[in-house]
Amino acid sequence: MVHVTESGKKLVTVIPGDGIGPECVDSAVKIIEATGAPIEWEERHAGASIFKQGLPSGVPQDTIDSIHKTRVALKGPLETPVGFGEKSANVTLRKLFETYGNIRPVRELPGVPTPYSGRGIDLIVVRENVEDLYAGIEHMQTPSVAQCLKLISKKGCEKIVRLGFEVARAEGRKRVACATKSNIMKLTEGMLKRTFEEIAPEYPDIESWHVIIDNAAHQLVKKPEQFDIIITTNMNGDIISDLSSALVGGLGFAPSANLGNEVAIFEAVHGSAPKYAGKNVINPTAVILTSVMMLRYLGEFEAASAIENAVMYTLEEGTYRPRDVVGDAAGAPTTVYTDAIIKNLGKKPSNYQVRDYQAIKLPQVSSEAATVIPDSRRVVGVDLFVESTENPVDIGKSVEILTADSAVTLKSIANRGTKVYPPTGTITDCTDQFALRLMARNTGTDLSDAQIIDAVQRIAARHKWSHIEKLQEFDGALGFTKAQGED
Ligand code: NAP
Repeated sequence: MVHVTESGKKLVTVIPGDGIGPECVDSAVKIIEATGAPIEWEERHAGASIFKQGLPSGVPQDTIDSIHKTRVALKGPLETPVGFGEKSANVTLRKLFETYGNIRPVRELPGVPTPYSGRGIDLIVVRENVEDLYAGIEHMQTPSVAQCLKLISKKGCEKIVRLGFEVARAEGRKRVACATKSNIMKLTEGMLKRTFEEIAPEYPDIESWHVIIDNAAHQLVKKPEQFDIIITTNMNGDIISDLSSALVGGLGFAPSANLGNEVAIFEAVHGSAPKYAGKNVINPTAVILTSVMMLRYLGEFEAASAIENAVMYTLEEGTYRPRDVVGDAAGAPTTVYTDAIIKNLGKKPSNYQVRDYQAIKLPQVSSEAATVIPDSRRVVGVDLFVESTENPVDIGKSVEILTADSAVTLKSIANRGTKVYPPTGTITDCTDQFALRLMARNTGTDLSDAQIIDAVQRIAARHKWSHIEKLQEFDGALGFTKAQGED
C-alpha cells in the first residue's frame, strides 16, 4: 500500500545513485514536479558512498526503512565498486524487497534513428528478478572447478508467468511468448515452460507461444516486431533485454520497473557510466521513462501520459536531442533537454501514440514455502561429488570395492555432466571433479540417511568429497537428470 502524506501526496523514496545517477534522477524529478503530480520525495542513499563508509551491503538501514514505509522507490544507478563490498547493492535492493518481476519495455522512438526505424518494435521483456543463476550462489568444488547454482522455484515461475499475462492485459497486448532453454535444462528452465503452459489457458484472450531462448535472440535481431511480451528467466532476461534496448537506441532510452507484491523499485537499465558523471551531457530519457512507469504504478496516468508525450514530442521535433542520438557536438546538455521536455508538456508527437494503460493487477500467489506437495516421494540414490586426479576407471573400481556390501551400488561416474565410467570409448578431457552416481542396491527402496552416511564414509576413506545431492523421485517421476551418455 502506497504511503500518502498528510498533505495528500504519495511518498516515494528517491535514491540519486552514483555517477550519472543524480543528474538523471534530478531531470526526472523536475519533470514530474512540473506536471503537478501529487508526489513527495524522501531522499535516501545506497551504493558507492555507503560502501566507502564501510557497510559491505551498500544499503543502509535508513534506506531500507524508507522503502519499507513508502513501498515505492525511484532509484539512480548504483556502482558496484571493485574492492569495496561483496555484492551489488542493486541486486540486494531488488532481493530484499522480493521485487520478483523486472519489466523492461522496448519501443521504437520518434527522432531516434536506428537500423530498425520504421519496423514498429514495441515489446516488453518480463524478466524473473530474484532466482536463477543471478542469485549468485557459487562454490569452488575443487581448487579448479567452480559451481553456480541455478535455483528455480514453482512459486517463482508462477509469479513471473502471471505477472507477464497481467502486464499484457494492463497494456492491451495480445501475444505472450515464454523464452526458455528447456530443451537442455529440463528441470529448471523446463519448470518455467511447464508453468507457462499450465497458466496460459487462464488468459484465453491472449495468444501464448514458446520459443527457445537462443532462437529468441536470433529472432529479436532478425524480426523484432513479431514480439509483444517475452517472459523469461533472470539470466536470459538480463541478456535479451539489453540486446532489445540496443534495437531502439540503446541504454540511454531503456527504462525498467522491479515489481513485487509489496514494493516496487523503478530504475533505468543502464549503470552509473562514471566517465560522464557531472558533465551535464548524459541522456536522462531512460530514467524519465522509468519515472513514467512509476507514475502509472501510482495511478497517476494523466501525468505519466503527459510526460511520455512531451518526451516523444521533444525527440520528434528534434531541436534538443541527447548526445547519444546526434553526437557530442550537436547533443543538448542534460539540463537543456530536460527544460525542453518541461516546455513541451501538453504537446503530442505526430508519429507516436501513447497506449491506453490500466493498473497492473499484481498476481496473488500462495506465500506457503512449499507450493507442490507430492503424494509419494523416495530417495533412490545420491550423486557424491569427489575431487580426484586418478583416472575414471581407477576411481570406479575403487568405489565398487569400497561400497561392495553397502546399501548403494555405483551406477556411473560423470565429469562435468558427461559419463566417463563405465568407460564409453569416447574422448573426455577430465577435470579433478567427478560425480559418483550411487543408486539404491535394492531398487524400490527409500534410502535412509544412515545408509547414505555409511556410503559416504566408506568412499571418504579413499576419496576427498565436496558435495552430495540426493536423487529423489516425486510421485514416481525422476527428480534429477541423467549425465550425457548415461542410459
Ligand atoms: P553503464 O554505466 O550502463 O555504461 C555503459 C555505456 O552505456 C556507457 O559508457 C555509455 O556508452 C552508455 N550509457 C549508459 N548510460 C547512458 C545514458 N544515460 N545515456 C547515454 N548512454 C549511456 O555500464 P558499465 O560501464 O558497465 O557500468 C558502470 C557501473 O554501473 C558499474 O559499477 C556497474 O556495476 C554499475 N551498473 C549499475 C546498474 C544499476 O544500477 N541497475 C546497472 C548496470 C551497471 P558510450 O560509452 O558508448 O557513450
